Amino acid sequence: MKQFLTQDALKSYLQNKGGSIGFVPTMGALHEGHLALIKAAKAQCEQVVCSIFVNPTQFNDPSDFEKYPKTLANDIKLLTETGCDIVYTPEVDDLYPSGMKNLPHYPLGRLEELLEGAHRPGHFQGVCVVVDRLLQAVQPSHLYMGQKDFQQIAIIRKMLEITKSNVNLIECPTVRESSGLAMSSRNSRLSAEQKTQALAIFQGFNSPSAAAFESALVANGFETVDYVACCDPITLENKPWDERPCQILVAAFIGGVRLIDNQFMP
Ligand code: AMP
Repeated sequence: MKQFLTQDALKSYLQNKGGSIGFVPTMGALHEGHLALIKAAKAQCEQVVCSIFVNPTQFNDPSDFEKYPKTLANDIKLLTETGCDIVYTPEVDDLYPSGMKNLPHYPLGRLEELLEGAHRPGHFQGVCVVVDRLLQAVQPSHLYMGQKDFQQIAIIRKMLEITKSNVNLIECPTVRESSGLAMSSRNSRLSAEQKTQALAIFQGFNSPSAAAFESALVANGFETVDYVACCDPITLENKPWDERPCQILVAAFIGGVRLIDNQFMP
């Protein structure tokens, strides 16, 4: 696997390669959820590029940014074993050469006001800026993203429309531990007990009401529930709890760690 630290070096290497390019943007601390995206890209594309970059502009909470797990040596080992061709590991200056002020604004509309958008001001603008810049650097034919971040996929689809990109966005299903806990880099910040308590998220999707789901989270040690919502899977607008089909989405804090998850209810 080749590693590049700058987009110039990455671009000049890719210029001489023909064929399809599958791209998997990540923030590192890789797990099986990320590797499933790499495998999906490998099955469809001639070159697979993964980026590892903890993007400062998408963190609305400085302590979440500082505590974000970093395991680069292990990430490189996992990517090599999985058959990834190229890893791009830039520093902040490479993606933000003019600094992090006066960044472009994406008119994301209503999607940005709901759920994560309401609880993490500026988060999706930061996600759009970095993904847009990463796409310029990699110029992939296919972009792979996980349904674990359900709203993020909707936001990126909108951003691709705004920027008139013709990259193929491929959605991959959420990878879970055998217990049902959705894999997440942030899980490494949880104790064994908190990981068991966090199963209340997966178990809660079948709750009889949003209030019952929230109480079960609190009873299992979650300090704060940002939202438990039953939504239209396309628009993400709220729906009555027992209407089907719907997407149930959750965000809640346990041990100071913010976890998100979602499930399609047919
Ligand atoms: P992150 O490193 O958390 O920014 O995630 C990078 C990509 O991996 C995003 O497209 C995520 O949706 C995806 N991802 C993270 N966790 C999972 C998971 N458990 N299953 C599937 N995809 C995931």
